[in-house]
Amino acid sequence: MAPNATSQETLAAETAEECFSGGPLPLGDESIRVEDKIYSAKALADLHPGGPLFVKSFAGRDASHAFLSYHRRQFPHSRVKEALEKVDPNVKVDPHAQDDFLELCERVDKVLPRMQSFAPWSYYLKASFIMGVALSLEFYMHYTSNYRWYISALCGWFFALIGLNIQHDANHGALSRRPWVNRFWGLSQNWIGGSTISWIHQHVVQHHIHTNEIKLDPDIEGRFVVRLNPRKPVLKWHFLVGWYLSFFFTLSHNFDGVTQLDNTEPSKSLLYNQVITSSNVAGEFLCFLNGGLNYQIEHHLLPRIHHGHYPKIAPVVKEFCQEKGIPYQHFPTVTSNAWACAKHLFEMGSQKVPKSAKHLVTS
Ligand SMILES: [Zn+2]
Repeated sequence: MAPNATSQETLAAETAEECFSGGPLPLGDESIRVEDKIYSAKALADLHPGGPLFVKSFAGRDASHAFLSYHRRQFPHSRVKEALEKVDPNVKVDPHAQDDFLELCERVDKVLPRMQSFAPWSYYLKASFIMGVALSLEFYMHYTSNYRWYISALCGWFFALIGLNIQHDANHGALSRRPWVNRFWGLSQNWIGGSTISWIHQHVVQHHIHTNEIKLDPDIEGRFVVRLNPRKPVLKWHFLVGWYLSFFFTLSHNFDGVTQLDNTEPSKSLLYNQVITSSNVAGEFLCFLNGGLNYQIEHHLLPRIHHGHYPKIAPVVKEFCQEKGIPYQHFPTVTSNAWACAKHLFEMGSQKVPKSAKHLVTS
């Protein structure tokens, strides 16, 4: 580049260099990629009917799969043209890559119309009961200075129920079409000791979009206690702790036969990735108690559908996956899921490359 080149010439030269590098153009912290388009995160957030929080959370990232799973339709590029920064010439979009997912959405719509896929009125009775008991217990403990272990444990269990049944759906935007309703109930996450903002970043932006991707999913970090990530070294205590914790740990993404993705770029199919990295367990009662997290496959595919509807749509999803030849794992009981999880964690804790996990390498 000549020393007196203008900044525009420099920019053009840099862009040309990026184009010839072969990979997608790098994203700045204030931009969002959707397929081959790069948008201003702020401008897109201002246009989002559901409020700016979700959109801004994806700044600096690819939001293609997130939009699909939340809205169940193709991204409306033509309606948000004013937020467009540039088209990435290095990304070739396959217009049929998500056809299977959209076909599944059509079938789900037949048993559960979209306008009815949020929380029914009866859910608010459950949510109010859980919140009421948790508040009463906390008030009683502080007012009487009675912090006996069994009262603390009961309060802790109700806090867990808030996490599972209330904040999770609310911060996924699954309670209501009205953003303020989701925001209000979602703030319960802050009350139980978490943070709505960091939860959305870790759970929605990273875990949901990069489920079981061993470089990107924070939920398989394990933090030295248990080995969930096959790229991490096998440590001596994993043998024991893997067995011990397997009974208490999340079952839905760690089981015998699970797939862990060892790829360097996102897979093209949202449907395939989400189904092969998750499992379901048991039925309606556990769904009622645990906020639907036992229907992990349906939750990961359609996170904006309220958990009360999962038992209704699960047979549709299962049948569709079987038609398409996609492995769909539903354990009949918690015990059978726990054993499959224990077997997987035992192998993760004792074998460098466990037979219980399938690794999909796309790079
Ligand atoms: Zn979730």
